[in-house]
Amino acid sequence: MRKIIHVDMDAFYASVEQRDNVAYQGKPLAVGGSPNTRGVVCAASYEARRFGIHSAMSSKVALQRCPHLIFVSPRFESYRAISAQIRPIFERHTDIIEPIALDEAYLDVSENKGVGK
Ligand SMILES: [Mg+2]
Repeated sequence: MRKIIHVDMDAFYASVEQRDNVAYQGKPLAVGGSPNTRGVVCAASYEARRFGIHSAMSSKVALQRCPHLIFVSPRFESYRAISAQIRPIFERHTDIIEPIALDEAYLDVSENKGVGK
């Protein structure tokens, strides 16, 4: 039987923005398009989720649910760089990695790579 791990990092883009900007920490934040331009939310921080904001929601609706929501434009280059930093962690456990997105991958851990031996 094969053993597969599905890694899906929660609130990845929003967490990167909060990590990189102290002013965003602990606040409702949405990464995505502006509410004035038919934008959509790509990622919502945990604080924003408490207002019912989630990814794929229109930014306009998100702003209605949380008027003090902070909107941040996506910085895909940064997300890509951080995603690349996470990859070696996966490689410690398996050589069979199927990336799905910057924040998501399948790891085939059927065979024990012998971490910690
Ligand atoms: Mg995710």
